[in-house]
Amino acid sequence: MKLKIKIRWKLFLTYSAILLVSFLIAGTLTVISSEKYGINQIKRAMQTEAYLLAEIFSKPLIMNRSRSEIDTLVDSLGLKTDSRITIIDKEGVVLGDSYESGTDLLKMENHITRPEVKDASKFGIGSSIRYSNTIKMDMAYVATAIKIRGETIGFARIALPLMELNNQIRNLQRIIVLTLIAACLLALILSLIFSRTITQPLSQIMEASKEFSKGNLSYRVKIQSKDELRDLGDLFNDMAKELDLKIMELNKEKIQVSTVLSSMIEGVMAVDKAGKIILINSALEKILGIEKFQGLGRSYLEIIRNHKISDLINATLSERKGKLIEITALLPKETILKVQSAFFEGEQGSLSGAVFVFHDITEMKKLEKVRQDFVANVSHELKTPLTSIKGYVEALIDGAKDNNLTLTKFLNIIKSHTDRMNKLISDLLELAKIESGDYKIVKSPGSLKNLIEACLAVFKEELEKKGLLYEVIVQEGAESISVDKNKMDIVFNNLIDNAIKYTAEGGKISIQAKTIDHFVEISIKDTGIGIPSNEIERIFERFYRVDKARSRELGGTGLGLSIVKHIVEAHGGKIWVESELNRGSKFIFTLPKS
Ligand code: ADP
Repeated sequence: MKLKIKIRWKLFLTYSAILLVSFLIAGTLTVISSEKYGINQIKRAMQTEAYLLAEIFSKPLIMNRSRSEIDTLVDSLGLKTDSRITIIDKEGVVLGDSYESGTDLLKMENHITRPEVKDASKFGIGSSIRYSNTIKMDMAYVATAIKIRGETIGFARIALPLMELNNQIRNLQRIIVLTLIAACLLALILSLIFSRTITQPLSQIMEASKEFSKGNLSYRVKIQSKDELRDLGDLFNDMAKELDLKIMELNKEKIQVSTVLSSMIEGVMAVDKAGKIILINSALEKILGIEKFQGLGRSYLEIIRNHKISDLINATLSERKGKLIEITALLPKETILKVQSAFFEGEQGSLSGAVFVFHDITEMKKLEKVRQDFVANVSHELKTPLTSIKGYVEALIDGAKDNNLTLTKFLNIIKSHTDRMNKLISDLLELAKIESGDYKIVKSPGSLKNLIEACLAVFKEELEKKGLLYEVIVQEGAESISVDKNKMDIVFNNLIDNAIKYTAEGGKISIQAKTIDHFVEISIKDTGIGIPSNEIERIFERFYRVDKARSRELGGTGLGLSIVKHIVEAHGGKIWVESELNRGSKFIFTLPKS
């Protein structure tokens, strides 16, 4: 696994590496130069001391002081300066040495060949570092010539054990190294703090980026430092604010568009220039019979199975212009659609495609058909009696009027036709009233039994003529109802009239009323011709008749049941029929209890 080093540690390690390398270089150079510097300093001090010694011993030498006198002075100075002092005459004989005295001093070698003495006799001053046979260790020597009026009369030499010298240098170096280590540690601590001041704002910005990517655009970066990182944080905050505003605006627009689209009755679909679906509204889902459209981004060819719509999409995209077509499609039920297409192109051709608006005109077409049928039916219904009347009138004019019997017969036929026309027109007027929109039901309480019996009284003659039996059974709870009496009269009149019309002689009509929950259920049952089961659905339609000729013959208009249905529904009830061919029919309707 690749180790992820945090930027803070990267910075710290980089600083540390730079610090360590620079301290190492600085330390090495300082240590090296401190050694040189130390030696030079000590050498300079020794030279000064040597010059002083030369000055001090010039007099005793001129005065030819004895060796022991000089040695005593040398010894006392050596003690005070804590160094080895040697006074040599111009021949190289050691006159005094702070380390040797008495016979040992006399035994000391001639020093004229010592390198520092040689240099001093040549240049006035000389120095050397070498092993001392006298004190058996490395020593640093500085010798200077003792001169009187330019003439060398001897040499003063000062010597320091090298160990001493080294110790002093080591001490100096130790102090330098310790100081450097302390400075380095301090620098490391500072670099740790410094790297934190950089990384802390960065981690805050990182945290903010995470929040922004999660969609929390109200999150804000808070950086205390007054530097570019704070500016960066402020920029981040401004960016989030700006983004938030933009997203809100976009969302608002999106909501507006989707509200408009979803509240449209027309189906809308949009495809991009490659034919991929980019939008389908809920109205179109309904038209296409799709539960919840999941195919955004898929080609229209996968979704639209109708070749006429596919051709339209294809043509709109390839010809880049809108078209209007009308199609009948099975989606899955037969639907008549008017589809209008339009080609659209975004700025610089970035987004282009086509939008399609689907108008479901099935209902409109159906209504149009109903209207056409209605006009045709009305014309036909009026034309038949009129043609008949015209025929009889012409026959009367042509001479039939002269025969009294024919005259009466023809006039009666003409009357029955005018009656039918009259009934047709009053039914049409009633229907027109019902469908006008301001059809009002004015309910008033009353007795159901009375209402039924009043209606039956109108048909008394016909009932007797056909020898029809009838019964009225009204349950106690169903007795008092609140209805629009005039309109309920029309309902009973039509249903009882039909029962009488379509029941053969000797049949029976039974009218019953009972309560079911909050409703009164009324049934008019006959033992007549019945209705074929495949026609039952349609008998409440205007002008629908099972047997047109028979109905017409019986003075029917085919509008009765459709008027009845409207009135029952206007009262808040329902109507249906149960029937068996040649056994009889039972019309049942409900009315809300008063
Ligand atoms: P019509 O004026 O022709 O009776 P309706 O609208 O009242 O028109 O009735 C529509 C059709 O329903 C009738 O033509 C008839 O075929 C059928 N119908 C209505 N009532 C009965 C019934 N009681 N028995 C059998 N058929 C009926």
